[in-house]
Amino acid sequence: MPFNIKIHDIDYLGENVDRLICIDLKARGVIHPLYEAARSLVGKPLTSRAAQLLVESLRAKEVVLITTGFRLPPLGLQETDGILGAISLAKALQETLKAKPLLLIEKESIPILKAILNVLNEKITVQGFPTKFEEAEEKAEEILAKYNPTLLVAIEKAGCNSLGEYHTSKGENVTSFHAKIEVLFRKARKNGIVTLAVGDGGNEVGMGNIKKAVEKTVSYATKCICPCQGGIAAQSKVDLLVTATVSNWGVYGILTCLAKLTQKPKTMHGLKMEGNMLKTAVKYGAIDGVTRRKALSVDGISLAIHKSLIKMLKAFPQKKLKREILI
Ligand SMILES: [Zn+2]
Repeated sequence: MPFNIKIHDIDYLGENVDRLICIDLKARGVIHPLYEAARSLVGKPLTSRAAQLLVESLRAKEVVLITTGFRLPPLGLQETDGILGAISLAKALQETLKAKPLLLIEKESIPILKAILNVLNEKITVQGFPTKFEEAEEKAEEILAKYNPTLLVAIEKAGCNSLGEYHTSKGENVTSFHAKIEVLFRKARKNGIVTLAVGDGGNEVGMGNIKKAVEKTVSYATKCICPCQGGIAAQSKVDLLVTATVSNWGVYGILTCLAKLTQKPKTMHGLKMEGNMLKTAVKYGAIDGVTRRKALSVDGISLAIHKSLIKMLKAFPQKKLKREILI
C-alpha cells in the first residue's frame, strides 16, 4: 500500500488508524494476512471506509442492529472483547448520527451489557437472540418487521463454519452457547440491509469474506478438535469486514474516523469510559477470551495498554488536514 502524494484526508487518517489497530502486539502472525485479505477486497483503508459506510447508510432515527457475544467453555462465560466495542459503537451512533441502536446478544450475557449501560447512564435497548435455529428464524423475522433496520453490525460475534458449528480459537465446539445470528444476517442481506462486521481471529461473523486467508493463516481453521472436523473458519459474509488485533480496537478505529468525518471528537470514547466498561464487564462475570481469567484485560492485553491505544487514536488531528500531504 504505497503512500501517494495526493491522499484524501479521511483515507490518510484511515491508513494510519488501520496500521495502529493492526499492530501485532503478541507477534502471532495472524492479523497482517487477515488485514491484507480484507483490505484487498475494499481497495482502501478499512476503518475510514467503515466510517463512511456508517454515514452513508444511517440517517437520524433509523435503527441499527449491533450484535456481539462470544462465550467460552466450559461454563459459557462471556469474553471481554466485543462487548466494549459494541457498546461504544451503539453510544456513538446514537449521539453522533442520532440513530437508534439495538444491541443483540445471547440472553445469558444481557446482564453484563445492561450493567455497563447503567454505569454509563445510557438508555440503549438490549435483546437476547436465540441459540436454537427454529427460534432464531422467528426472532429474525420479528426484529426485521418491527424495527425495519437499515444497518446490521457484528462485533466479535461467534460465527459458524460451513457445517453450522461454532468454535473457539482453540478449536473447541461452542455451538450450544451461541446465537444463530447468521439467520438474521441472511435475511438482512436478502432485504438489502447493509452489513458490517469486525473480527480478529477468523471464527467470527463476516470472516467468510476472507475465508481462504483464514484457512491459510489461522490455527484450527480447517480442522477443529470437535467431532464435526469442519474447522473454525467462519462462513458468513458481510458487505464490509474490518479486521484488527483486538475486535474492540476495530470499533475504536472506525469511531476515530467517524469523529473526523463528523468533526465530533467525542464520537470516540476516552480513557475513563474504557476503564468503567471493562471493570463493570468483569464485575458482572466477563472473562478474558485468551487467558480465560477474570481480570481487567481483553485478549490477554492489560487495561493500561488498551488505554494507551485509545490515547494514540485520540491524538490524531481532529480538525481538517491539508488536502494534499507531501511525504
Ligand atoms: Zn468442529
